Amino acid sequence: MTAPAYDDQNIFAKILRGEIPSIKVYDDEHTIAFMDVMPQAEGHVLVLPKAASRNILDISTHDLLHVSETVQKIARAVVKAFDAEGVNVIHYGEPAGGQTVFHTHVHVIPRFEGIPLKPHTGGMADSDALQVQADKIIAALGN
Ligand code: 5GP
Repeated sequence: MTAPAYDDQNIFAKILRGEIPSIKVYDDEHTIAFMDVMPQAEGHVLVLPKAASRNILDISTHDLLHVSETVQKIARAVVKAFDAEGVNVIHYGEPAGGQTVFHTHVHVIPRFEGIPLKPHTGGMADSDALQVQADKIIAALGN
């Protein structure tokens, strides 16, 4: 398989450039994390490298290590923020793998026994509700 080249007009590239708003929970030199607008559960966060890549197949090891560090921080924070019983860390690579936005990102989703995930890219969430969730995650990251 030859993957297409990175397209800097994808929606996450626009968010990274500040052209489109997002509800951010974390930002450092190499990575950013914000709320998914079509969450599969309360507290669904996306973690991205700032550098350009499509997915796990073309990201540099260096960028992937930074993403991994942030994924662990966010996973611990969402579990703490929502008093969750578990967590999912999910990556969809290329269309055949379910990917819909072609800037590398990892989904971090708090989980509870017996509560199934909503569909991937299902309904839009209310942005005030997402901001309340983000504030809880930011507070959990801070202590
Ligand atoms: P993928 O299918 O590429 O793994 O996931 C893309 C994710 O991005 C989906 O879960 C979708 O809900 C989310 N998403 C799509 N457009 C936007 C957007 O404009 N802002 C945010 N915050 N999330 C988005």
